[in-house]
Amino acid sequence: MTNNANRAASAACDCIEGPAWDITSEYPSISSAEYRADLSAFESELASLEALGAAAGARAEGAAALDPAADAGFLRELGAFAVASDLARARLGSLQTYARCVLSADGSDAEAAATRGLLDGYSARLGAAVAPLSLVLKQCPEAFFEAFCLEPGADAFRFSLSLERKDAARALALPAERALASMAASGFHAWGALYDSLTGTLRCRVRSVGGGEESVGLAKAASLLKRPEPELRESAWRGINAALSVHRHSFAAVLNALSGWRGSEGALRSHAEPVHYLDGALRQNRISKATLDALLGVLKESRELGRRALRAQAALYGVERLGPWDILAPAPAADGSRDAIPFERGLGIVRRAYASVDPSMGAFVDAMAASGRIEGRVKDGKRPGAYCTEFPLSRRPFVYTTYRGSLSELSTLAHELGHAYHCEAMRDIPLAESDYPMTLAETASTFAETALGELLASEATSDAERLELAWADAQDAATFLVNIPARFEFESRFYERRPSGPSGPDELGAIMRDAWAEWYGDSLSAYDEWYWASKLHFHKSGASFYNFPYSFGYLFSLGVYARREALGPGFHRSYVALLRDTGRMEAEELAARHLGADITKPGFWRDSVRIVEGKVERFEALAMARRSEG
Ligand SMILES: [Zn+2]
Repeated sequence: MTNNANRAASAACDCIEGPAWDITSEYPSISSAEYRADLSAFESELASLEALGAAAGARAEGAAALDPAADAGFLRELGAFAVASDLARARLGSLQTYARCVLSADGSDAEAAATRGLLDGYSARLGAAVAPLSLVLKQCPEAFFEAFCLEPGADAFRFSLSLERKDAARALALPAERALASMAASGFHAWGALYDSLTGTLRCRVRSVGGGEESVGLAKAASLLKRPEPELRESAWRGINAALSVHRHSFAAVLNALSGWRGSEGALRSHAEPVHYLDGALRQNRISKATLDALLGVLKESRELGRRALRAQAALYGVERLGPWDILAPAPAADGSRDAIPFERGLGIVRRAYASVDPSMGAFVDAMAASGRIEGRVKDGKRPGAYCTEFPLSRRPFVYTTYRGSLSELSTLAHELGHAYHCEAMRDIPLAESDYPMTLAETASTFAETALGELLASEATSDAERLELAWADAQDAATFLVNIPARFEFESRFYERRPSGPSGPDELGAIMRDAWAEWYGDSLSAYDEWYWASKLHFHKSGASFYNFPYSFGYLFSLGVYARREALGPGFHRSYVALLRDTGRMEAEELAARHLGADITKPGFWRDSVRIVEGKVERFEALAMARRSEG
């Protein structure tokens, strides 16, 4: 009720900040009877899944000899197991999402924190309980697998299981798989956790906004890299690197252990065919090596475009070259040069940008706001950042952000609503077919940002506004055409070297310096030799080569956007059809079917780069005009 009152108030006033969301459509509260009922329903589901998992696990050893006729009873059990595990996963997902939402809006909620801890434990148990299901279906003969897909509700699992089956040659014997999985928590994943705990407690000495020096945590120091004052950015960058250098041997140990573990595991799995260090990332991202090569080739031939963006940015700051502390800098003097955009007005702009693609997309933005599915307040205790989340039981998406009226926050709002639109487009698709890879995850969000950018640019009334918009485009060009590829360069050089022994901090710094030289060339005054230690992405145990999907997503989404003109009024239908298939097709098939594009060839990627080129040229012209004025 309070939320409804807030919404009515924010609609009536011209508030800058965003509204409160209303998640009571999912559960009234964590202590409510509804939440408790779902929790105990999940607990009994988990118990029966653990029994089913134990029974299936007992058959895993002989999975290669399963026969659809002789093992018809087991086949039916597996079908029911799959459907039951999907429902349990959805219920747990909704309970977890609710607890996370409560915690995001109020980090001090002890009940939500305790519940989240309990649910994380359940999540690990659920994963262990259903593991035998995929193990059996990965190793069974084709005829048995086909018969499984004909069981009621089981066809939805065909795509994800087929991907796993492609990998069957790399499976180990069951006891070895179990040993690896159980040791990874305190071995492999512990290295990633060590990085988090070291960086979480790091103190950096930096120049403070009000003058003088202060000691701050890494997150706060990193936020200074986005300040308009160059001396604050440089001081933050130096303070961060000095603090990191104290732990350099530990950070090097983390990188060596993660890549060493992956290498050893790959060697174990190479009994039938050799495993390459990129295989895991390609599989997770559902793309082929040919696609990655085509993308990287076009990035390499386009890196000069990213460097041009950096040079024009430097010119606007009145320096010959930007420093490594400047790559996240805002447009000079952008701070405060524009009035804050009140939330309702901002939402109206986003709505028009969406509606320019199709009226139904504009209506979607209205529906999200009207049903209280946007959190945008400015208040103490809220977690920083922005995200879109979906409740798997109701399939309703919610958007979380903190909105103060800046242009970048408006862009974030459009971005997160793009994720929500993606969810909405998939709402009637089984959960098992709606899990999309990182390469495709940013399609709808980047698309929405592009649509917003185009609308704002066409309606800008001053050169200052145009410059601010173009600055953001230039920053994207430099990030995706130069910075992300430099990260990939570092990782591949390091992985190439790893089998001959661990690399110390000096060597890692040297590899990073070479990688930056290769991509940034002469466009910066110095290279960031500590980037291997400061960038969290290199230290994640959950995914290897975590970086290239960002450049893929950016250029892929631009490629989708570019089809707007070619397809005219038929575009929106193809766009929605593409989004709906992102969880049940590999990227190559998706692009071929819905865009008529072959992403294993450079042509598709070059078309996207041409759009970026237009944006960089626009930025250069505006920067030139500004300089001749000044
Ligand atoms: Zn996103």
